[in-house]
Amino acid sequence: MSFGALNAWGNCLNRLVATGACGPRSAARQNRCMRIAINGAGIAGVALAHWLHRIGHTPTVIEQAPRFRTGGYLIDFWGVGYQVAKRMGIEEAVRAAGYHVECLRSVGPGAEIKADVNVAVFRRMFGADLISLPRGDLAAAMYATVESKVETIFGDSITTVDQHDDGVRLTFQSSAARDFDLVIGADGLHSNVRRLVFGPEQSYEHYLGCKVAAWVVDGYRPRDELSYVTYNTPGRQVGRFALRGDRTMFVFIFRAARDRVDETPKDQLRNEFSECGWECPQILATLDEVDDLYFDVVSQIRMESWSRDRVLLIGDAAGCISLLGGEGTGLAITEAYVLAGELARAGGDHQRAFNVYEQRLRPFVTGKQAGAARLIGFFVTRTRFGLWFRNVAMRAVNFRPLGTLLAGSVRDDFELPDYGI
Ligand SMILES: Cc1cc2nc3c(=O)[nH]c(=O)nc-3n(C[C@H](O)[C@H](O)[C@H](O)COP(=O)(O)OP(=O)(O)OC[C@H]3O[C@@H](n4cnc5c(N)ncnc54)[C@H](O)[C@@H]3O)c2cc1C
Repeated sequence: MSFGALNAWGNCLNRLVATGACGPRSAARQNRCMRIAINGAGIAGVALAHWLHRIGHTPTVIEQAPRFRTGGYLIDFWGVGYQVAKRMGIEEAVRAAGYHVECLRSVGPGAEIKADVNVAVFRRMFGADLISLPRGDLAAAMYATVESKVETIFGDSITTVDQHDDGVRLTFQSSAARDFDLVIGADGLHSNVRRLVFGPEQSYEHYLGCKVAAWVVDGYRPRDELSYVTYNTPGRQVGRFALRGDRTMFVFIFRAARDRVDETPKDQLRNEFSECGWECPQILATLDEVDDLYFDVVSQIRMESWSRDRVLLIGDAAGCISLLGGEGTGLAITEAYVLAGELARAGGDHQRAFNVYEQRLRPFVTGKQAGAARLIGFFVTRTRFGLWFRNVAMRAVNFRPLGTLLAGSVRDDFELPDYGI
């Protein structure tokens, strides 16, 4: 949803101020084939299933949703994660599902244009390796590579994780208990595996002071094809992007106390935005028909350690950077690749693999978290002066030397290992 690109010029602003046989292709043929449970068929989980199957292990994916989730909010996909996607052989599918956003537009209450950023600034830096696509469609492109080869249990959830010397026994809400060699929690910000093995979410969640909602409707007008249009008031941002098939995605972000238990998500949105200008009343009216509203806190997950014996967390479950970082999917995919690579290198010694994996990725993830946290004031700017300055800064990005400078500022500081897998 152009968070990557928004994040990029935000950075600039900051600167200015157990079944189946082992897989056939085994780069780790000398390794013992392990039965590895992956909780969550999201970005990290599906990417990991791909790589584990490719190096000859037997992953089983467990997903609480009744079926594979496609669509959803739009993400910007770029950086090191994009390079891993190329190694997975899914670039064509990603490009087919994606959009080449041309413009980031900021508008005022009467739809007057306050600033336009030409996304060519970022393309000069990333070339073709920058695309926006629905989160679920990226997951689906990866899932297509393993769907017929990897067991997936839909509509179920782990209830207990019992670790012993030789493995891990999992019990489930519906399925019978199963034994695995390793368990990977790839179940997102509100990870169930993290809660069961590491303790309550409150111990690790750092609320960044805002909430986010996203939804998709049919037939909305106006559309502004290939432009990500935002309208900001102090402490609030509304985004709109036109999707194929005459659909439109909206994203609302607003500063709020974490717990407002007496209000439903839709009520919170109506209460927060009903007095706002631009198309807010018209967009809020579409909420009546929406039954798959995405609504969540904007939080990060910060943990001292990502593993405990035979259980490891990856993706948002371990180190969510939040949507403000604009690169959570890229990190999740990179983590999946590095984890599989280190397991292959460690020749079956999962503890060694987990340690090296964490050493390699922790500085990268921590750096991205710090960068994301600095961007809150940019996404949900507090004051009218701040909003004015934000628009000035947006316009300045079109000035080529400045654009090049900021594009450099969002380059990934991570060298992707070549595991030969
Ligand atoms: C509005 C918004 C915009 C964003 N924009 C961008 C962007 O532009 N670029 C970018 O790179 N990132 C963006 N992100 C962040 C990105 O979506 C996440 O970082 C990424 O999806 C993390 O992947 P994951 O696999 O760890 O978690 P998820 O993709 O959330 O997947 C977790 C999976 O686990 C499943 N699950 C949850 N609980 C259980 C359970 N108990 N049992 C079994 N399964 C379970 C879920 O159903 C889901 O399938 C954005 C996020 C939001 C909210």
